[in-house]
Amino acid sequence: MKLDINGILNAQRLAITRALSFVENTNDLDMSLTDALFPNLGKAYRIGITGPPGAGKSSLVDRLIGYWRAADKKVAIISVDPTSPFTGGAILGDRVRMGRHYADKNVFIRSMATRGSQGGLALRAQDAADVFDAAGFDIIMYETVGVGQVELDVAQAADTTVVVLVPESGDDIQAMKAGLMEIADLFVINKADRQGANQAFAQIQAMLEMRHPEDGIWAAQVVKTSALQGEGMTSLTDAIEAHQDFLHKTGIIRQNFRQRTRAKIQTRVEKNILNEFWNPQKQAMLDEVMETENLELLSPSQIVNSILNN
Ligand code: GDP
Repeated sequence: MKLDINGILNAQRLAITRALSFVENTNDLDMSLTDALFPNLGKAYRIGITGPPGAGKSSLVDRLIGYWRAADKKVAIISVDPTSPFTGGAILGDRVRMGRHYADKNVFIRSMATRGSQGGLALRAQDAADVFDAAGFDIIMYETVGVGQVELDVAQAADTTVVVLVPESGDDIQAMKAGLMEIADLFVINKADRQGANQAFAQIQAMLEMRHPEDGIWAAQVVKTSALQGEGMTSLTDAIEAHQDFLHKTGIIRQNFRQRTRAKIQTRVEKNILNEFWNPQKQAMLDEVMETENLELLSPSQIVNSILNN
């Protein structure tokens, strides 16, 4: 595929769309786009919005787009659905919820599926974000359903990680994995127009207070919103901006860039090694062993050693 790097740098939509298709479809080992964009990275602010399905992530993202557009910022949204192999459904959903922004040329909404792609969000969605970064977008939001590994991927890919919960998440909060506590820079109790929002808010606050973060470490915050009614949005944007200021003041923003670059390089190295290792001869060795009549009489560790060493 012919990539129009100048077109990307000049924020031409067609060039961006093509680059995003390249990211989705290319062989993981092709780093030509990465190389071309690399000198132009590091300007966009990356925000991950994660949480259970139906918590109101898209509705909040829609409000946030409105907020940044009013400040004349260019905004890109990468919707990641880790469960769907197709992007069609997700796009339809986004159109409904963020519909009013579709005609705005300074807003770009893209859905990506990550199922089956190893390194999931950490690789392809980050590459997509790099395209937007190089194209001069100010804000990039990853919107994704928080399930297992995806949450950690989001945290790695984003400068600010927002975990969206609802008043009914009480049990989830009780059972919340330590990991989720670690990755959230901000908690949002959305649907605060419903009962139980204050209890959920207090529950999170009590959990956060137990942590006593040291100096130089961000103390996670919790805010209440109603994306439906547009309430609490100022407290959310204030909290995001406070975190952004903190990252700049401490220099962590720069470390994030280095950390992402490091992870990217490490992932590619690993993929290269795997690719080289599993050449047709090795595949054939494994296939052949699997044909053995009395497989259970063999020693798995010997098979591993012979594949490694032959
Ligand atoms: P997502 O799956 O997390 O992206 O959630 P959506 O943004 O699609 O919202 C799921 C449903 O909750 C939709 O029907 C929204 O209209 C509704 N919703 C979103 N935010 C609020 C809110 O603050 N209050 C109430 N009552 N409903 C909301």
